[in-house]
Order: sequence, then structure tokens, then C-alpha cells
Amino acid sequence: MSSNLRLILLGTGNPTPRAHRAGQSIAVLTDDAGAVFDLGPGSAMNLFASSIDPLAIDQLFFTHHHFDHMADFGHFVMARWDQGAGAGDALSVYGPPPLRRIAHLLFSPEGVYGPDLQARTRHPLSQRIHQLRGGPMPRTLPTLDIHELEEDETVTSDHWTVTTGPARHVQPYLTSLSYRLETPSASVIISGDTRPLPALVDFARDADVLVHMAMDLQDEIDRWPEIATSCTGAAGAARIAAQANVQRLVLVHLDTTADHPNRQAAMHAEARAEFTGDIILGKDFLEIPVSA
Ligand SMILES: [Zn+2]
Repeated sequence: MSSNLRLILLGTGNPTPRAHRAGQSIAVLTDDAGAVFDLGPGSAMNLFASSIDPLAIDQLFFTHHHFDHMADFGHFVMARWDQGAGAGDALSVYGPPPLRRIAHLLFSPEGVYGPDLQARTRHPLSQRIHQLRGGPMPRTLPTLDIHELEEDETVTSDHWTVTTGPARHVQPYLTSLSYRLETPSASVIISGDTRPLPALVDFARDADVLVHMAMDLQDEIDRWPEIATSCTGAAGAARIAAQANVQRLVLVHLDTTADHPNRQAAMHAEARAEFTGDIILGKDFLEIPVSA
């Protein structure tokens, strides 16, 4: 297993479209492998515009199926495959149900991209462009290896293990998961969208980095019970980080209110009152240090 982990934020926003914050997405990379957790709107473009080689990403994980976490699933798969000249066919995809149905509705012959896939593999124009990119013939289709996950499951690869954990967001309409990625020397937690969850403390115990939802100040979240039982603010995330004894807290999924520098300073101060470790307010393209 490789231990030289890199963590890059590709999308740190919420469902409100913003040019400078894509929907939720986090890339975890070693020298020779990569995984992306969620692909919110705009995040695939950020990934393609970043230093990350899309072909190095061979695992996708979804925390849940709100569109601000998976709207770019189609774009990423299609562009990685199309530009990959045959090297971007295979991809492993993990997430809660109904992931299998979503993938089928997008990429099967009768799915959203079915006609495009047929045209790009069969029309001479696309075949020629594919060959000019160095692609072999006959042109093949994407082959997604879909795995629907529940809590307390572990995915093992040559580079790391990824374990699913708890998250409580908008059940029962959508199932939500958190993730813990571990190498022998480093660990990263992705909370996904959740209210502050005591069970996440044990799941995140002693991690190097906790990437946690923090929409706004906790007081703003707590004004509305429907929001407070589904989402987390800065202080709530920081309390989880402190109780779990993580090294570094990264706040993501920021609301538009959190775009103002004064609000960001207030969120940082609110988190600092709860947690003495490193606190980072996320922004797109930011690389997060991961202690080895
Ligand atoms: Zn969300």
C-alpha cells in the first residue's frame, strides 16, 4: 500500500449554484491511484482543470444521491471514457442504493447516454477521433463495476481500505453514508451530509483529517429544527473533531452566507472554541495536508 496521500477539494459548495464553489467533491490520491468522493455539479470540470489525471481515478464513492453530490456522475464517466482512448473504460463505483439503478438509467443502452455511447462507438467520425487519440479498435464501452453499500462495509484495494460509516441527513428518502479511507500510515474521514452525529466520533477516532459538512454558524443552523436535524454547522463539526481526537478539520458544503469573509472568520472562531487542532475552511482546488 502507498502512504503518500494527497487530498484535494474539488467542490465545497451546497446546492446553490456558484461559479467559485462546485457541488461537493473530494479527491484522495496516492502516486499511482485515486478516488473521488461525490461529484457535485461543476466538480468534474474542476477535476479536469486540476492537476489530477482522470485516468488515475479508478474509484468513485457517493455519500448519498442528492444532486449536489452526484450531478457530475454522468459528465465524469463520459469524459474520462471519451478522452481516455481505451484506458478510461473501467471504473469502480460505490455508494448507497439506488446506485445500481442510477447507473443503469444513465449508461445502459436505453439510458440517458445510451444513444451517445452508441454513436461514439459506431460512427466513423468518433471512431477516427478515438484512433487519432491512440485508441484501439473496435471502440469499447465504459464498464462500470457498481457496488451498493450499507454502513459497516469495507472496500479493499491495493492502495487503501475504505469503510462505510454513519450519517443522518434526509432518511428515509435518501440513504447517507460517511467514509473512512485508511492507509497503514494515514486516515481520512468524509462525513458526507449529516447532522452532528455522536456515532461519527467513534468512526472518526484519531483520524488525520476529518472533512465535515459545516453549512454556516451552528446558531444559524439551530434556528430551524428541520435543518438542525439534518445538517451541521461549524461548532457542531468542531465538537465531533475534538471528541474524535482528529488532527485536522476541514469544513465544506458551505452555504452562500459563508462566502463573506466576516462570516468565515466567525465560523473559524466558532470552530476554534471547540477544537484545538488545525481548522481549514474549504475552497475549491485547495490541497489539504495529510500527516503521514
Ligand atoms: Zn449536500
